[in-house]
Amino acid sequence: MEIKKFLAAGKWCSSRRSFEIKNPFNGEIVDHVHKPSADDVERAIAAADKAFDSWRKAPLYERSAILMKAAGLVAERRETLAKTIALEAGKPIKTARGEVDRTAGLFVDAVAAVRGFSGELLPVDINPTAEGRKGIVKRFPIGPLSAITPFNFPLMLVAHKFAPAVGAGCTLVHKPASATPLSSLLLAEIMIEAGTPAEVISVLPLSGDDAAALVDDPRLKGLTFTGSAAVGWGLKARVFRKRVSLELGGNAAAVVHEDADVDYAAERCVAGGYAYAGQSCISTQRIIVHEKVYDDFLAAFIPQVEALKAGDPLDEETDVGPVITPGDADRISRWILEAKNSGANLVCGGEREGSVIRPAVLEKVAHSANVWKKEAFAPLTVIEKYGEFEDALRMVNDSDFGLQAGVFTRDVERIWQAYEELEVGGVIAGDMPTFRADNQPYGGVKDSGFGREGVRWAMEEMTEPKALIINIRR
Ligand code: NAP
Repeated sequence: MEIKKFLAAGKWCSSRRSFEIKNPFNGEIVDHVHKPSADDVERAIAAADKAFDSWRKAPLYERSAILMKAAGLVAERRETLAKTIALEAGKPIKTARGEVDRTAGLFVDAVAAVRGFSGELLPVDINPTAEGRKGIVKRFPIGPLSAITPFNFPLMLVAHKFAPAVGAGCTLVHKPASATPLSSLLLAEIMIEAGTPAEVISVLPLSGDDAAALVDDPRLKGLTFTGSAAVGWGLKARVFRKRVSLELGGNAAAVVHEDADVDYAAERCVAGGYAYAGQSCISTQRIIVHEKVYDDFLAAFIPQVEALKAGDPLDEETDVGPVITPGDADRISRWILEAKNSGANLVCGGEREGSVIRPAVLEKVAHSANVWKKEAFAPLTVIEKYGEFEDALRMVNDSDFGLQAGVFTRDVERIWQAYEELEVGGVIAGDMPTFRADNQPYGGVKDSGFGREGVRWAMEEMTEPKALIINIRR
């Protein structure tokens, strides 16, 4: 098997060390990847630093042409990319195709975002001392950046770093998750083919332990991190003088009110709770249902959960594949058992075969249990009952996290109340919290993060405003 090279300082490189990528479903070796040395890391950072000076001045037509071409190449390589995601991340192939399609769409949106990313003409003559002055504000790229990404959307979340960096005029040294570097490397190939100057993006498949320079090196002026809260906040504490954006985890909730279309809500909560075995930062983990429609909701929800097909990600019929490691499967089984031992009712699922866990539904769960208060990142949902809408909102907010929340109601006043009261980065009305439009400002409050993503919003994080005040008469 040929060992995959990594991209550093504009060149595809090999090294003396390599590591295996394993299929999370059956443990088979999918590929081997060369592992960068400390020298490779140094070369990549130095190249990003050097290339920044010319790249930050690249004209708009050049940057938008790269993004447009990247969109086309992603769409053209749909099957190769989807199969790679399925093999390295264990994502069901039909879900993986959806990730590829969203990635192509994200690059198209990036073209619009880049073209619309203009500055501001500022009326500065607010007092006599400023008479005759005109103000202009334009955003400038902050410098070379590092980007660190998780395993669960190994293509799309990398595109959420590459596209705004290209758009904003930043250079980037990227570290993919150790489990899933292949999609990143394929996307890097696409970026180069689309015309990105090779030194602008490096992809270094390092372990977290080997990635210290990507966090600490002062030549990298910012860190854009997507991953768990434990790792993200730890990195931010290390580099408090840098620009850091954190896209972290959650235990998202959906509220199903008594006036909702219960069948529709049940169908959407199945999609939100079990897609990619619940391994999404906005997976629908807690479902809070009005007491008057609780039984109807369960009657619609449970048969659909039981009908989900769990198994091999490469099987076209599979809805729920494995979780990423056997260790994660162990933890999830433990959490389900712990909930049962403290009085919860396991309505269905939870059986385990290898790293595949049958979709589980729990009710009557203590709010001190891990499946309620922590991020489960598992094919499970917890159903809870409420009487007053305000109680439901309080339960949603009863969390250290705050990424997104879904509210199924047709009452505009309640939608607005939820929008004002919920401590989250986004409220999704009439749908599950797992819905994300790739051009919305996306990110969390509380432990769920710091800063926003979505190309236009990420470009704001990667740039800073600079004022030009012109004294017209001089
Ligand atoms: P993770 O364990 O935090 O890892 C994320 C990335 O950080 C990986 O590339 C990892 O490398 C790296 N890393 C770990 N320790 C590091 C260190 N000391 N220095 C530098 N890099 C380090 O998260 P994960 O398990 O891959 O992904 C799941 C998490 O991501 C969940 O919490 C999920 O909610 C969150 N997530 C958030 C969003 C969002 O947009 N808000 C989207 C997707 C996922 P290794 O792989 O080598 O350990």
